[in-house]
Amino acid sequence: MGTFRQKLTAPIHKWARTALPTLSDTELDALEAGDVWWEAELFSGNPDWDMLHAVEAPRLSDKEQAFLDGPCRELCGMIDDWKINQLDADLPPEIWTFLREKKFFGMIIPESHGGLGFSAFAHSEVVRFLSTRSVAVAVTVMVPNSLGPGELMLHFGTDAQKDHWLPRLASGEELPAFGLTSAEAGSDASAMRDEGVVCKGVWNGEEVLGIRLTWAKRYITLAPVCTVLGLAFKLRDPDGLLGDEEEIGITCALVPTDLDGVETGRRHLPSSTMFMNGPTTGKDVFIPLSNIIGGKDYAGQGWMMLMTALAAGRGISLPSMGCAAIALSAHTTGAYARIREQFNLPIGMFGGVQSRMGRLAADAYSMDAARHLTCAGLDEGRALSVISAIMKAHATYRMREALNDAMDVHSGKAVIDGPSNYLLPFYRAVPIGITVEGANIVTRSLIIFGQGSIRAHPHMLENIQSLGVEDEEESLARFDKSLWAHIGHTTRTVFRAWGRAWTGGLIAPAPKDAGPLAPIYRKLSRWSAAYALTADFAFLTLGGALKRKEMISGRMGDVLSEMYILSATLKRWQDEGRNEADLPVVRYAAERGFGRMQEALDGVLANFPARWAAWILRFVTLTGSAPKTPDDRLVAECSDLIFEPSDTRDRIVGRIFEGCHSDGIETLNRCYAAVTGAAPLMKKLREAGKTPEEALEAGIIGESDMQQINDMQALVDEVVAVDDYSPEDLATLFPNLHQPTARAAE
Ligand SMILES: Cc1cc2nc3c(=O)[nH]c(=O)nc-3n(C[C@H](O)[C@H](O)[C@H](O)COP(=O)(O)OP(=O)(O)OC[C@H]3O[C@@H](n4cnc5c(N)ncnc54)[C@H](O)[C@@H]3O)c2cc1C
Repeated sequence: MGTFRQKLTAPIHKWARTALPTLSDTELDALEAGDVWWEAELFSGNPDWDMLHAVEAPRLSDKEQAFLDGPCRELCGMIDDWKINQLDADLPPEIWTFLREKKFFGMIIPESHGGLGFSAFAHSEVVRFLSTRSVAVAVTVMVPNSLGPGELMLHFGTDAQKDHWLPRLASGEELPAFGLTSAEAGSDASAMRDEGVVCKGVWNGEEVLGIRLTWAKRYITLAPVCTVLGLAFKLRDPDGLLGDEEEIGITCALVPTDLDGVETGRRHLPSSTMFMNGPTTGKDVFIPLSNIIGGKDYAGQGWMMLMTALAAGRGISLPSMGCAAIALSAHTTGAYARIREQFNLPIGMFGGVQSRMGRLAADAYSMDAARHLTCAGLDEGRALSVISAIMKAHATYRMREALNDAMDVHSGKAVIDGPSNYLLPFYRAVPIGITVEGANIVTRSLIIFGQGSIRAHPHMLENIQSLGVEDEEESLARFDKSLWAHIGHTTRTVFRAWGRAWTGGLIAPAPKDAGPLAPIYRKLSRWSAAYALTADFAFLTLGGALKRKEMISGRMGDVLSEMYILSATLKRWQDEGRNEADLPVVRYAAERGFGRMQEALDGVLANFPARWAAWILRFVTLTGSAPKTPDDRLVAECSDLIFEPSDTRDRIVGRIFEGCHSDGIETLNRCYAAVTGAAPLMKKLREAGKTPEEALEAGIIGESDMQQINDMQALVDEVVAVDDYSPEDLATLFPNLHQPTARAAE
């Protein structure tokens, strides 16, 4: 090491070794789990756009496409969501059988083990498609394919475990659930009291080394009906039967639910969405050590296993459901706003309604773009821990926003509950999406930036790891290398951030083939540099205290998330052949994204404890100028894209189940086709200033035109109608209901 450098590095190293908090093993496991990918480019301050463009857009194989067109569509046609949620509180037996027979529970299990062996993208498409029909059915399918015994077994199972369990899980002979959450341990899994003690016991008539388990879990999806529970618990070895360590740590094992002492069957009712969910308890349940997922060597590795396996499921399940909700909101709201008239105009022509529809169109496009990009990354075999956290939180946040918009535009039509209401089941399910697989607040404020800052930063993980090396010499040598690389990176970032901000992004890079989107790429490169610099200043001035400054790290997480979603949006436009007609939604997504990035960075700087640093950052990055929002003309253009039928509308909405048996969606679709199909005829009437009857009499329209108008009107009446109930109908829904009649009061 050169002397000058040595003089500088050594005291910093000494200070950092004592001043910075050391990370616990659990924290390190969580931080090191998974892979980083495109978010690291955004974090670098200088994203390589060619790398993004080179990512292959995900595609379905013929077999996957056939599954979507066949069993998925057939399943959707079998579902009566109102009956499931309001009358039966369960899926009907024929749907359970169909799910098993068609291997819906084995989508992620390889064909070699009897599963469907689907790609992440196909898995996501299935969940998205089913979600547009029924959240209860989609969640039932989601769970065995997400975090749980199947996923853990695929990553960590021994060959014997895989051979035994995977074919049974794929065929649905065994139904899994995964039990992590307990009353004391929600977001903080390490607080769990569920315990396993290493001991000897009898298994299949022989005395073997095993674990005696006691647990009390809650909120466990499929627990009431599962046959095997993937259980997370703290393992102890007080008698030293495995070695000298007494507290072995969080461990995951398979527990067949027919063992003595296991209790399942009681149910929770999650937001009137009637998938199976409930508590489970176990008292002195004995399992052999071979039931530990991965075998005895994985005792105590549970946290690392969960963090690694969580990435795929988290990047697929709820993001797919969120995208389905946004797409369905855009689809139905666009159609309803075209059909429903007030003040003699379709309500979608009023600016107030357009402001909601514009947002719906842009979100449907950009969130689905992010889903595609995420699936592409997962299908490259990466465990995307930071990106999956971004997707989980933001797809469900935007799902909530989309449903609020859809509900507001539909108004009374969406408020009245009943079989024809296609929005309320989703609206009720929003808090489920927000809560499960890592509640959104903790995901947003702690995980996205907390993990992203260390993993996605080009040097931070090495900085931290080098400080943790026990050998002083080696630690100093590694730290010196990473510190100076970090300083070099920060210096380059200062110039990048400054040059790009002060030229309004003019000198920022954009890919050669960016076409009309070049200014957006440049601006994104500009904000990426500003972000990277702000992150480095945050580390420098806050150090380990940054971990507790959640309001700051939450905003930093928002900027990274917005950059990710926007870059995915740009890529989608490119991948889909640069459709001119889609430009308004891309521009909307960009303007709103930049606005949100600026607002979040402004909030960070306004609250930066080191005021000098905030001042420098403001000067260099020009953060703080009033963020722009999409202008009214652009909003109206986006709204129009989902108002009238077109290929663009179909592309924005994507694949959704079109409804069946004259349910709310099917009737809406037929009516929308009728209303838009009759538009030229209605224009003729308007121009002539006549009613249909008068126009017929005057020979302006013919008999068949009159029939078309009558048919359309009948459908409009059907769509505008809401459900109502006779006292007898209500008695089946509410058996204790007292029948209020005017006569009884007399
Ligand atoms: C319908 C449903 C299905 C579920 N399915 C399963 C399942 O199959 N298996 C399973 O194991 N679990 C399951 N869960 C549990 C779910 O994962 C937990 O509910 C979730 O982890 C949050 O725990 P909690 O509800 O106890 O909230 P808490 O942990 O009590 O959190 C309350 C609030 O505080 C916030 N918070 C907590 N800590 C922090 C922090 N450090 N910083 C910022 N904010 C923080 C949270 O974000 C949340 O908003 C399910 C839950 C539901 C409701």
